[in-house]
Amino acid sequence: MSDQIDVQAIEREAMEYDVVIVGAGPSGLAAAIRLKQINPDISVAVLEKGSEVGAHILSGAVVDPKGLTELMPDWRTRGAPLDTPVTKDRYVLLGENGELDLSWLPMPPNLSNHGAYVGSLGNLCRWLGTEAEALGVEIYPGMAASELVYAEDGAVKGVVAGVFGIAKDGHIKGEYQPGLELHGKYVFLGEGVRGNLAQAVQARFNLCEGASPQKYGIGLKELWQIPAEKHQPGLVQHSFGWPLGGSTGGGSFLYHFGDRYVSVGLVVHLNYKNPWLSPFDEFQRLKHHESFRSHLEGGTRIAYGARAISEGGYQSVPGLVFPGGALLGDSAGFVNLPRIKGSHNAVKTGMMAAEAAAAALAEGRGGDLLVEYQHAYNTSWVKQDLKLVRNVKVLWSRFGTFGAVVLGGIDLWITYLTRGWSPFGTLKHTGTDAEATGLAKDYEEIKYAKPDGKLSFDKLSSVYLSATNHEEDQPSHLKLKDPTIPIRVNLPLYGEPARLYCPAGVYEVIQDQGAEPRFVINAQNCVHCKTCDIKDPSQNIVWTTPEGGGGPNYPNM
Ligand SMILES: Cc1cc2nc3c(=O)[nH]c(=O)nc-3n(C[C@H](O)[C@H](O)[C@H](O)COP(=O)(O)OP(=O)(O)OC[C@H]3O[C@@H](n4cnc5c(N)ncnc54)[C@H](O)[C@@H]3O)c2cc1C
Ligand code: SF4
Repeated sequence: MSDQIDVQAIEREAMEYDVVIVGAGPSGLAAAIRLKQINPDISVAVLEKGSEVGAHILSGAVVDPKGLTELMPDWRTRGAPLDTPVTKDRYVLLGENGELDLSWLPMPPNLSNHGAYVGSLGNLCRWLGTEAEALGVEIYPGMAASELVYAEDGAVKGVVAGVFGIAKDGHIKGEYQPGLELHGKYVFLGEGVRGNLAQAVQARFNLCEGASPQKYGIGLKELWQIPAEKHQPGLVQHSFGWPLGGSTGGGSFLYHFGDRYVSVGLVVHLNYKNPWLSPFDEFQRLKHHESFRSHLEGGTRIAYGARAISEGGYQSVPGLVFPGGALLGDSAGFVNLPRIKGSHNAVKTGMMAAEAAAAALAEGRGGDLLVEYQHAYNTSWVKQDLKLVRNVKVLWSRFGTFGAVVLGGIDLWITYLTRGWSPFGTLKHTGTDAEATGLAKDYEEIKYAKPDGKLSFDKLSSVYLSATNHEEDQPSHLKLKDPTIPIRVNLPLYGEPARLYCPAGVYEVIQDQGAEPRFVINAQNCVHCKTCDIKDPSQNIVWTTPEGGGGPNYPNM
């Protein structure tokens, strides 16, 4: 018998549930809890690729508790880990040597952080996980859902999860496990941004027809603990401008919360043109700006990570339902970009999908289209939340940061006052972020300063802080459609930007003396941010799930 895997011939044990949910983020866990609240007899399984719930969650996070309050009105007394209310909102425009405080500018109330809380979304998910389990939800951490399973009529009927023990060269190892099929009458995809199963159903069921292309940013974040005398619990500071130039969209955040913690981060819109730009190095130099240094100096960096964020908003939301299932949260791109918030919409969309599924199950349905969820979204506050800010990202892409501040500001006020009308109508996003990448010859290479080891750091020591780990002897989960493209096409045309946009140093071009350059993939360092899948100008890199439990182990991001 050969020990080489024949994927088609694998027979797997199947487990049957009413609802199978992929992803233990706020959307998946809210859906699981809502199903059990409505009917404790509904059987629900949640699969999570992280080693535990919360291990792969990275967010700001300033949490608008609107969704959570609808899900669990008593979340405060039940001990949800959100105990730092926002006390002060600052908006600043950064120049290289100073800042312009814009906090006095009147902001439309729908952008206010009043009533929101600063905390760790990962810890909130850990808590939601225990609440879900107490209601009888089965949560399986360390189980990556790697494939969809289809019924004979073409509907999604489940997922394959828990495949372990395949070696790098495709041979089976002693600990080989073929995985399980988890079948559900409905399958919910709550994988977060750029979910690979979500991508598959969007393509198969043509869910993006009529929508603008999805847009993305990369968010890099560190958690610091700072001296008590500098700590201002509840301070929320958003800034834009330096270090990104006027034509590169993005912004930075700094949030004080909890036990002397500060979350600091930079979001860079992935439609940036200059292929020499390194989001990681931009973030490192940001921290040397007085507006950040004054908070962080004397403190200790305790965690690092990165994650893409969906930015397309209202225009890019795909169809939400397909035969046998639904897209929740960031799998459908429900982030309100000007607020940098998506967790409230993730919770609410999870709840709406759950309500639709519970009603359908009560009628004896399964495997069909949950049109009631689509209808609920169409009349929900989630859609309105996104509608009121729908033009900001497009204006940013077209007119740069400063044009967006002026035109976006006017648009935000008018849409707020009219509850949705805009003089711009609804502007469309054009092109993908990969297509936006310019040629290396048209841009000057950016020389970044060496990190000082106090405020700024290198990639390797940063990845170490993300506690990322993967079984090394497994096939690379970063697949190249054509292995020759990085050196043959990307290197001469774009300087192979994967070396620079990857926040974990996974991709290298190595040139040994007298030899041809080689493209090397250090897949074990991958923090699952999905940026390569989005930004590779040749769209040659496909992110797939590695063995479950691999990836970062964020303690409190
Ligand atoms: C830098 C940054 C800052 C942000 N700041 C804020 C903020 O301040 N406030 C706010 O409200 N929102 C913020 N957001 C957005 C917010 O984090 C998201 O909107 C929210 O996390 C979306 O929830 P979700 O459940 O859809 O997905 P996620 O939170 O991404 O959860 C998805 C889960 O699914 C798991 N998963 C994915 N694929 C699989 C698979 N195939 N098999 C098994 N498991 C899988 C993942 O490991 C993860 O645990 C920020 C995002 C970023 C990147
Ligand atoms: S390999 Fe891709 S998904 Fe992994 S950290 Fe790098 S850019 Fe992110």
